[in-house]
Amino acid sequence: MRKVLIVGAGQSGLQLALGLQAHGYDVTLMSNRTADEIRTGRVMSTQVMFHTALQHERDLQLGFWEQAAPRIEGLGVSVAGPEDPQGGPPRVVDWLGRLDGYAQSVDQRVKMAGWMETFAERGGQLIIHGAAVSDLDYFARAYDLVMVAAGKGELVAMFGRDAARSPYAEPQRALAVCYVHGLGPRPEHPGTEAVRCNLVPGVGELFVMPTLTTSGRADILFWEGVPGGPIDAFQGVRDPSEHLALTLGLMERFTPWEYARATKVELTDAGGALSGRYAPTVRHPVGRLPGGGVVLGVADVVVANDPITGQGSNSAAKCAASYLEAILARGTGPFDEVWMQQTFDRYWDIARHVTKWTNAMLAPPPEHVLNLIGAAGGAPAVADRIANGFDNPADFEHFFYEPRKAAAYLAEVAG
Ligand SMILES: Cc1cc2nc3c(=O)[nH]c(=O)nc-3n(C[C@H](O)[C@H](O)[C@H](O)COP(=O)(O)OP(=O)(O)OC[C@H]3O[C@@H](n4cnc5c(N)ncnc54)[C@H](O)[C@@H]3O)c2cc1C
Repeated sequence: MRKVLIVGAGQSGLQLALGLQAHGYDVTLMSNRTADEIRTGRVMSTQVMFHTALQHERDLQLGFWEQAAPRIEGLGVSVAGPEDPQGGPPRVVDWLGRLDGYAQSVDQRVKMAGWMETFAERGGQLIIHGAAVSDLDYFARAYDLVMVAAGKGELVAMFGRDAARSPYAEPQRALAVCYVHGLGPRPEHPGTEAVRCNLVPGVGELFVMPTLTTSGRADILFWEGVPGGPIDAFQGVRDPSEHLALTLGLMERFTPWEYARATKVELTDAGGALSGRYAPTVRHPVGRLPGGGVVLGVADVVVANDPITGQGSNSAAKCAASYLEAILARGTGPFDEVWMQQTFDRYWDIARHVTKWTNAMLAPPPEHVLNLIGAAGGAPAVADRIANGFDNPADFEHFFYEPRKAAAYLAEVAG
């Protein structure tokens, strides 16, 4: 039986561990926290996952929360106009695109804790330990394959930054998330669960989305602020109630239509707030250990995009599915450096579209993109296409980046 060590019990590490386990591999999973510590700890993400990523979970019979989690049928975009001292900024764009297959968000505290317990119940070896490079050096000799799925933690230092694929050296947004109970529906579509993207030009974005958390159904209020701007105000805020008050104050000022349904919200729990920032980074996939061994980087370790497009968990699921297939196809062959590079290259063919789109969305939108977003308000087909691009970002190649293709697409829809 082939022995595999996976470091990191997040979306990619656990999906791979459970997938390999189901195929009879001898899997050891190393996590720096127990399931209970994860469950009772702080929120980590907003983790909206679209159809393709959810299907990878279903393929492994891991969609444990599919019936309980809200079904997100739509994705809406609103754009704020200039600030108006009389009554807050108006909405100059407002539409809702329909997703072909529903999306879902299951709080990673619920999912990772649950999957970790399932892995152990099924006989997997779980080691609770924050792995250091020296540990990996020791373990690499005892395993056929070591994969590092430790997210954006310190172990990324083993994997060199790929400067050609990483246009930003600094964080492009300050992130501030809080989970709440008591949010009202959007009055325009009260019966439709949707991700709401509210763009405030030059200032940042507010995302509002339903989720399943440790205390049941909830909603997430997630500000992405341009660094140094008015939304970049959460540094040093330690008290979750203060975090919520700041979130609501910014909503009242910049997105009054979202604030109007948030006047009665309260935090889901003391761990329901998170803030931080990181630079989007693509890394080389093979990590070299001091003793000469090699390890393969997984998901955020190798491709970490800003969450502005809500893709990281989707990408982690796609990476885990792609790596699983490559490992199974390798049979008894060696997991050497050449295989590792090829395995990553195969995943990069999916991930490159996510990175291109996400990095584009971090920059001020060019005119043809503003035209597309505006046109979607009067053309449901355009709204639906943009919404479904969140599931399949490769589609943006056909109509989003080049003014000529965008114009041709809009002409086609109009005709
Ligand atoms: C604010 C925010 C909002 C987001 N919203 C979305 C969204 O809506 N949709 C979406 O798809 N993505 C979203 N993401 C991104 C998504 O959460 C991540 O991309 C995804 O979780 C990455 O999965 P992963 O398996 O690579 O790593 P992670 O999920 O980060 O898991 C890594 C695990 O490894 C553990 N670990 C770290 N170091 C060690 C060590 N040395 N030893 C052992 N264990 C270790 C960590 O504790 C963690 O449990 C968001 C991210 C943020 C920050």
